Amino acid sequence: MVRSGEHYAQLERDLPGAAGRGEIVALFQPQYSLATGAIVAAEALSRWIHPHFGVISPSEFIPMAERLGLADRIGDAMLRIGCDAARDWQKRGHEIEVAVNVSILQLRSRKIVDTVARLLKDLSLSPRLLTLEVTESTPLANVPEAADTLRDLSELGVNISVDDFGAAYSSREQVIALPATELKIDQALVQEPVGDDSEELARAVEFGKARGMRLVAEGIETVEQLERVRALDCDRGQGFLLSRPTTKADLDVMLVSDGRIDQDH
Ligand code: C2E
Ligand code: MG
Ligand code: MG
Repeated sequence: MVRSGEHYAQLERDLPGAAGRGEIVALFQPQYSLATGAIVAAEALSRWIHPHFGVISPSEFIPMAERLGLADRIGDAMLRIGCDAARDWQKRGHEIEVAVNVSILQLRSRKIVDTVARLLKDLSLSPRLLTLEVTESTPLANVPEAADTLRDLSELGVNISVDDFGAAYSSREQVIALPATELKIDQALVQEPVGDDSEELARAVEFGKARGMRLVAEGIETVEQLERVRALDCDRGQGFLLSRPTTKADLDVMLVSDGRIDQDH
């Protein structure tokens, strides 16, 4: 959405207090096991519910937060929301992993390691129920501390995922250098038209498999795309075809009603 300079300035004034006022919330998008069709994980996707402007997308306010030095504040709020949800599902008898997006800027210091360790301890949450998704939209090379911080995080036992793999910035060398356990294949690859040169998806899958990584295909919008990632033996699928990002309350209902992928798919 294009905003006037005045709107923009207002958002910049309001963002520092947004998390404290409870305006940063999460929608959860389920991830399905492609082997069983069951929901096995959910990605927490942030939204800013602004009292005047309404719902603001993360593509708009996350870059703003990073520019204003608020990446940790928003990031901590999302870690809390994600861990609370995983804990709540566990209490209800559902072992659902929660994936939280982490900005590279949050990896500049070890503070995030303490934050995650404390959350896991306070909530008695098993670390394997938490996945941290890291996007390479900021080149990792620009944040030299990131690899060490990620190593400390992975030593806590949480899963580390490389988000948007195959998109513009991501480089294979960087993935190799990281303690990542999951590759999340970018929707551009998942949605690539099938034809003579539609090999990128297969190559990405092969790359992850060779390293023993869990493979998640995101942005699945059609039955053909679902069949394709299943045929390539991806582990998990996420996308509008299967489910849109939804409120936690709606996902609670889906879990109780065992919302598997339709047999027709
Ligand atoms: P992402 O982590 O790659 O998340 C997937 C995005 O693709 C989400 O957009 C989701 O709604 C959308 N999506 C899911 N399935 C489909 C599909 O089938 N087709 C299409 N066209 N899109 C699909 P969303 O929620 O707008 O988030 C955009 C990006 O903002 C995320 O991309 C992530 O990089 C970032 N983001 C979201 N929440 C956070 C957060 O809490 N912290 C940080 N640092 N970044 C976040
Ligand atoms: Mg993500
Ligand atoms: Mg992604």
